[in-house]
Amino acid sequence: MKIVKLKKENLFPFLESLSKEADLWAPVQKYENKHSFQLIKDFSQIDLKYTRTILPPKKLFLPPTFNMFLATEQGYEEDFSHVTKKILFGIHPCDIHGLLILDRFFQHVFDDPYYSKARQNTLILGHSCWPDENCMCKSTNTHIIEEGYDLFFSELETAYLVWIGSSEGDDCIRIKPGIFDEDITDEDIQIYIKWHNERDKAFQVDINFIAMPDLMELKYENPLWEKLGDACLACGSCSNVCPTCNCYNVLDKPLLNKYASEIGRCWDACTLESYSEVAGGENFREKRAQRLKLWYTHKLQAYISKYGKPACVGCGRCASTCPVDINVQTVAKALEGKDMDTFWNRLSKEVTK
Ligand code: SF4
Ligand code: SF4
Repeated sequence: MKIVKLKKENLFPFLESLSKEADLWAPVQKYENKHSFQLIKDFSQIDLKYTRTILPPKKLFLPPTFNMFLATEQGYEEDFSHVTKKILFGIHPCDIHGLLILDRFFQHVFDDPYYSKARQNTLILGHSCWPDENCMCKSTNTHIIEEGYDLFFSELETAYLVWIGSSEGDDCIRIKPGIFDEDITDEDIQIYIKWHNERDKAFQVDINFIAMPDLMELKYENPLWEKLGDACLACGSCSNVCPTCNCYNVLDKPLLNKYASEIGRCWDACTLESYSEVAGGENFREKRAQRLKLWYTHKLQAYISKYGKPACVGCGRCASTCPVDINVQTVAKALEGKDMDTFWNRLSKEVTK
């Protein structure tokens, strides 16, 4: 793997050259301290001092709703209009790991063409980050990244160290020859090591994910699930914001005047009541506690048992989004039997409000 250096003042000229070839998406501040990946028309909008975006990058590969095909009397016609050539700049290591998990779901057993085509048409340009009080990626070991990107920019004081992760990434840096420097000095390396050590120390959350599959098993019938279920609003926000949640529903939209139908797809969430409803109105997971348990079984037990790592990449979005503070951090603490009095008292007040 090759590493080159780019002076900070050359970043936007470089991105500008790249954006002539494809749509550039990057983080933009939407409201105070709330960011979103947006299509960039004006480079001054790019804000790299963000921690996490509201929605994860999955929205660029499988949008919240999109049309899959048009069914007519003659057959069906696939619709890939959500796929355009894109450059996703500024994505953090946890979100790149999130995409690697989605690759496993959508490409490794059955190939989902709607995901794969969007993935093949998107360059991934990662960027280093700094943790806040909700970042759990050091515990999931997703705070560093070794694959899954074309270029990765580590920010130093006056320059970036740029990791080249693919032949497409290598082609990118040739678009503007002369601005990337192969001469990385000992001083650059020392600054990078110091930054890395300081960042490691800045993580405030420490969760023992290795213990979670056993704790989930041991506490499967524990009353904590009922308490969490009583407080959960079944809003589905945790699934929408999670970079690894991937459930969807399929929708028929009849076009009566054309004797045709559009077959679309939209995000779904196993925390929603309708998710487990079947014909006849039966519901296999009628209770919110059952649905939460399913969500956390998936994140903290099933995926670890199969792949040796959690289906959580520690992005902290569930922690910064859930209106009643049910998230990986609080559930892990409850499973570990840590002192949660303030949390439970708060939840019971929410329930009785
Ligand atoms: S479970 Fe929470 S912290 Fe983990 S990846 Fe999903 S949203 Fe991020
Ligand atoms: S756990 Fe929180 S975010 Fe998830 S469905 Fe319940 S209330 Fe909504």
